[in-house]
Amino acid sequence: MSPSTEKKPAKKPWFRRADLFLLIGIAVLSAALFAFFFWKDTRINSPMLEITSGGKTIGVYPLDEDREIRIGDESHYNLCRIENGTVRMTEADCPDRSCVRSLAIDRRGGQIICLPHRVVLRIIDGTGGLPDAVAE
Ligand SMILES: [Zn+2]
Repeated sequence: MSPSTEKKPAKKPWFRRADLFLLIGIAVLSAALFAFFFWKDTRINSPMLEITSGGKTIGVYPLDEDREIRIGDESHYNLCRIENGTVRMTEADCPDRSCVRSLAIDRRGGQIICLPHRVVLRIIDGTGGLPDAVAE
């Protein structure tokens, strides 16, 4: 078995230049499509954080802007933070502090409840024609 007797297959690139352009075209197209659908998705499904206290909505905030929100008054408070699209209760002076220990919520939904203070942080779909004026 000598390699010299074997017929060497013609060294052909596995794709030609035209195929390369086609591949690039497909890649660009799918990237554009992906971007379009992703953009559309975030447009249609724009999750917001709704904060209610004592059953009343006190604010609705977009998840894509980091901020810290203080809820309450002199007698009690909760501090919630939006960071990198997730929401958590960072501080509270409620007796059980289970709200602070709650897992962070994000655009997939969920809620954080502070029972003693009747504060609820909830992810809502922000496409329901919410007022543009979001409380600072
Ligand atoms: Zn609490």
